[in-house]
Amino acid sequence: MILVTGGAGFIGSNFVNDWLAQSNEAVINLDKLTYAGNTQNLAGLEDNPSHIFVHSDIGNRELMAALLLQYQPRAVINFAAESHVDRSIHGPEDFIETNIVGTFHLLEEVRAYWNNLAGEAKQNFRFLHVSTDEVYGSLGKADPAFTETHRYEPNSPYSASKAASDHLVRAYHHTYGLPVLTTNCSNNYGPYHFPEKLIPLMIVNALAGKDLPIYGDGQQIRDWLYVTDHCSAIRRVLEAGQLGETYNVGGWNEKPNLDIVTAVCGLLDELRPRADGQSYALQVAYVTDRPGHDRRYAIDASKIERELGWKPAETFETGIRKTVQWYLDNPEWVSQVQSGAYRDWVQSHYVGA
Ligand code: NAD
Repeated sequence: MILVTGGAGFIGSNFVNDWLAQSNEAVINLDKLTYAGNTQNLAGLEDNPSHIFVHSDIGNRELMAALLLQYQPRAVINFAAESHVDRSIHGPEDFIETNIVGTFHLLEEVRAYWNNLAGEAKQNFRFLHVSTDEVYGSLGKADPAFTETHRYEPNSPYSASKAASDHLVRAYHHTYGLPVLTTNCSNNYGPYHFPEKLIPLMIVNALAGKDLPIYGDGQQIRDWLYVTDHCSAIRRVLEAGQLGETYNVGGWNEKPNLDIVTAVCGLLDELRPRADGQSYALQVAYVTDRPGHDRRYAIDASKIERELGWKPAETFETGIRKTVQWYLDNPEWVSQVQSGAYRDWVQSHYVGA
């Protein structure tokens, strides 16, 4: 049995769906169901006895202690976080609360649980912390990609809160011996991605005939990885990662945001042409850049490839086609999330990756 936090969000739900498709090992899925958590992402698992969903906060220590004691998981994988950079600029407090304080509470309960384990159960236990490449800050055009030894230079409240959580996880290994692993991954895309992030926002806005807002000159470079490739990397690190190590995960797919939007428009032109026969690219609208917007992230994934033999299965071309097709095939999922906090947010802010 494993315990996953944040398993109703974008990456967590893909991970849980993937895990249960490939393994009989049960998953306790603990999620607070913030605006980003959506049980529709787990549709089909309602009657699966291997999926135990718990609606809670990673900071609820009493409940966490009871769950760990009752289910005795062999691993805890921490996806739970506030994850959207724009939201962190407008209201950083939730980011501090969940990403830093919440991770601290989780670590404390996991440490207490692990301390009481014995023999093989203690030796085999793992705490895997899922983090981001944004902790490394921004790169110049000619700089080499981020390796695991790159300095932490977070620039947004989101990345600063994730950096703090990474440091806590590291410290719990060095100070208390907790068997931890950390992954720092580049931008993910794929099914169940909440439509405030760049790729799903562009697909959803394009189909609705709305503007496709591009921050600044659209030349901010990100490295993109299809979400199930991130999931396979996490499984691999859990299986074979060296305790206390961090692994950068990326797809070697550096692309400017504008190229991403152009690719999405091109696929939509092919798969769901506009009624007037014109390209969706006509809907592109340049808007004022995000404050402190990092110019370039690039991940050097050679450590995980060399040491653990992991490689992404998708190229950007195959992954983006699958993604656009998924949004075309799942309009009811899109309309289900286009309500409440999401609608208010999108109306009052321009949002992106
Ligand atoms: P998401 O916002 O889609 O999902 C986060 C999930 O965590 C939601 O289901 C939410 O309800 C839950 N959650 C939030 N606060 C919680 C709390 N206090 N207790 C329990 N659950 C809580 O995020 P995502 O894109 O799936 O990202 C998952 C993790 O991966 C995050 O830690 C993020 O920093 C990291 N990451 C994301 C990306 C990316 O491109 N999306 C890339 C690298 C790393």
